[in-house]
Amino acid sequence: MSYVPTPPTQGGCRTAPILKERGQREVFCGLTGIIWLHRKMQDAFFLVVGSRTCAHLLQSAAGVMIFAEPRFATAILEEADLAGLKDAQDELDAQVERLLARRPDIKQLFLVGSCPSEVIKLDLAKAAERQSQKHGPNVRVLNFSGSGIETTFTEGEDACLACMVPVLPETDARQLIVAGALPDVVEDQMLDLLRDMGVDVVRCLPTRTAADELSVGPNTVFALTQPFLGETHAALLRRHARHIPAPFPYGEEGTTAWLAAVAQEFGVDAETFARVTDAPRARARAAIAKASEPLRGKSVFLLPDSQMEISLARFLARECGMTPIEVGMPYIHDALHGPDLDLLPAGPQISEGQDVDKQLDRVRAARPDLTVCGLGLANPLEAEGLTTKWAIELVFTPVHFYEQAGDLAGLFSRPVRRRAILGLEAAE
Ligand code: SF4
Repeated sequence: MSYVPTPPTQGGCRTAPILKERGQREVFCGLTGIIWLHRKMQDAFFLVVGSRTCAHLLQSAAGVMIFAEPRFATAILEEADLAGLKDAQDELDAQVERLLARRPDIKQLFLVGSCPSEVIKLDLAKAAERQSQKHGPNVRVLNFSGSGIETTFTEGEDACLACMVPVLPETDARQLIVAGALPDVVEDQMLDLLRDMGVDVVRCLPTRTAADELSVGPNTVFALTQPFLGETHAALLRRHARHIPAPFPYGEEGTTAWLAAVAQEFGVDAETFARVTDAPRARARAAIAKASEPLRGKSVFLLPDSQMEISLARFLARECGMTPIEVGMPYIHDALHGPDLDLLPAGPQISEGQDVDKQLDRVRAARPDLTVCGLGLANPLEAEGLTTKWAIELVFTPVHFYEQAGDLAGLFSRPVRRRAILGLEAAE
């Protein structure tokens, strides 16, 4: 197998100086991840131990979705808990008991930490251990933090997946784990591609149900589908699994490079690889060419939000003809983001962390054709005449692998096209 994406003629960004900023940030917290995780994990329940603010965030983020039996809730810490007047551990135990008695369908229960639970130092690990002993093996109780003090909105998924890794059974089997929550239909496309290449011992993290087999060990290799899985990466390494570094599977090129890295690990020959990928590659290229037309020759500024920014900038620069001005990331992790940085043509300022006022000054000075940012910044920037794309939509929408590559380009071109139409209307 020998597919290697063409390196940029002017060099890549892996060794580019990084502007590091620490200041006020404008991001959602990690509780947001529950919205897509609870859809993926069919018998899991997420119990946020938090305040009314946390409950509101979840309700409004889940917004339009209506469930007969929701699979997330908030155990509200009242003022007496926060003041340390009551034993919050006892109250939490009682809530968990009630929940599990009422909902025998729950096979995995996640106690999710929040800012308030962290401020009062409520030990959720201990609570999870106690409940696991009591309810195991029927229900697995784990804990992770979605607190805005510690996480950006995509790190909630990372924390959730990472907390599952230490309790996975050990195996010596040679296998591939693909980590990252993908919509089922996208996950199936990926599994089909790998199977057609002869890579068939593939497990996904997270699994769809608690009963799905997943174990890990020294003969496990793993690939990530989401660029925000730094803790999960570390947790899998601690279980002696080996990472397959690759660009992330966004766009035709990213998908091909990701599949090629896996194919190389499993000794797939070039002919088989071409047989499996040629047709979907051609479809993806055609879809991107069409959807990216309004983006060609335009500039883009990506603010740090989803942690997908470097991979998306690579896609926008190389496959959609855009010029990135600045590519901001909450955190940059060389093992995860290095392969995409290698392919991102040199030129943009790479920045890590955020000092939001200074960064907005740079956006205003550059006046990019498109700004990718969080919801809180999008409206004010639109009011200043800038065109924006909400980063959170990129996480809620299926964008990975070949069949979604055109949709990914379309997510960026829609606001540009809309602005062009509005501009024409204004001129009339
Ligand atoms: Fe707000 Fe913190 Fe609760 Fe997130 S975890 S909703 S940032 S209080």
